[in-house]
Amino acid sequence: MMFQRYTHLVDDALAGLAPSRETCRWIMDGDDVQLLALLQAAYVPREKVFGRKVKVHILNNVQNGRCQEDCGYCSQSKDSDAPIEAYPMKTDEQIFAEAEQAAKNGASRYCMVLSGRGPSMERTKKLAGLIKGVKDKYPVEVCLSVGLIDDQKAQILADAGLDRLNHNLNTSERMYKDICTTHTYQDRVNTIVAAKKAGMSSCSGLIVGMNETTDDIIDVAMKLRELEVPSIPVNFLIPIEGNPMYSDHTLTPEKCLRALCLLRLINPTAEIRAAAGREGHLKALQPLAFWPANSLFVDGYLTTRGSDMANTYRMIREAGFEVEGNELYEAQGGEAQAYRVDDTALPILKPEVARKSSCVPS
Ligand code: SF4
Repeated sequence: MMFQRYTHLVDDALAGLAPSRETCRWIMDGDDVQLLALLQAAYVPREKVFGRKVKVHILNNVQNGRCQEDCGYCSQSKDSDAPIEAYPMKTDEQIFAEAEQAAKNGASRYCMVLSGRGPSMERTKKLAGLIKGVKDKYPVEVCLSVGLIDDQKAQILADAGLDRLNHNLNTSERMYKDICTTHTYQDRVNTIVAAKKAGMSSCSGLIVGMNETTDDIIDVAMKLRELEVPSIPVNFLIPIEGNPMYSDHTLTPEKCLRALCLLRLINPTAEIRAAAGREGHLKALQPLAFWPANSLFVDGYLTTRGSDMANTYRMIREAGFEVEGNELYEAQGGEAQAYRVDDTALPILKPEVARKSSCVPS
C-alpha cells in the first residue's frame, strides 16, 4: 500500500501530471516518506528524459556588486555588508578567455552573470555582440543573467543567438516582498515571459532556506511549471556573513533532497539543477541529488566558493552518472584535463570577489 504512493508519483510524472498540493506537502514534510523510494520515484522521469547524463554549468560573474536593488539573499545588494569587491564589466578579452576555459573544462553551458536591476539599451547591444562572439568561437551554449528586461531587449539578445535567459523567481509571490522591495515578483515573471516571446529558452529557479513555508516552495514550483520553464536551478541559501538574509537554519540534507524531488515531480521534463549551496547543505548526501537533478554548477557561485571540477566530476562518475561534455572537452581527452586541486578549507568567498582588506588572503 505504502509503495503505491510512490508508484502514483511516477505514473503522474510520466503522464505529465503535477502532484496534488496534499501530495506535494507530503513529499516535503511527510513523516512516513521513505527517502530512497522518493528519490527513485523522481529518478524515473529524470532518466526517461535525460538518461544518466549530468550537465555542467560554469558561472562567470561578468560584473560584480554595485547593485541598487535590495534582494536580502544577495551579497551584491545595496543592503549587504558582505566583504566583496565590486568590479565593473570585464573586458571582452577576459570574457572570451573565460568562455574558452569553460568549454575546455567540459561545460555544456557558459553562464554570464551581471549584477544590477537590468541593462540599458546600450549595454544590451554590447552583450549581444559578446554572445555572438562566444557562440561563433566555442562549442558552448550561452546563458545570460542580466536582471529585468523588456520585450525589445529580449529580442535583441535572442537575435544575437542567446540560448537561454536566466531570471530566478526565487520564492512565491506571497513571500516576495519579504525578500526584496525594490522590484516585484511580477517584474520577474514579466522578464521570463519576454524571453519566451522572443523565442529564447528561459532558466528560472528558487532559493530554499529563506524562512519560507512549504506552501511557498510548492507555489514557486507550480508557477515555474505554469510558465513552462525548461531549466530550474534549485538553490539552497548560502549563509554569507553581512547579508540581511543569513540562514533560517532549517536546511538538512534530507530537506534539500526532498525539495529537488518535488521540483522534478512537478516539472518532470525540465532540467533540474542542484545549484548554489549544494556542497554545504547536502553534505555527504550530495551524490543522491543526481536521482532527481540532472545538472549542477561547478567551480563555485557568484561570490562564493564551491566544489571544483575534479571533485565534482569524480562525484558524478562514482555515483554512476556521466558528464555531458562538448567537442572541445572531448578533443582534449575529457575529464583528465579538468583535474585540479580542491581545497574546501579556504574561506567561503571567492578570492576574486573578496576585498583585499578582508580576512581572505589575496
Ligand atoms: S540578485 Fe541581482 S538584482 Fe538582486 S541585489 Fe543581487 S545583483 Fe542586484
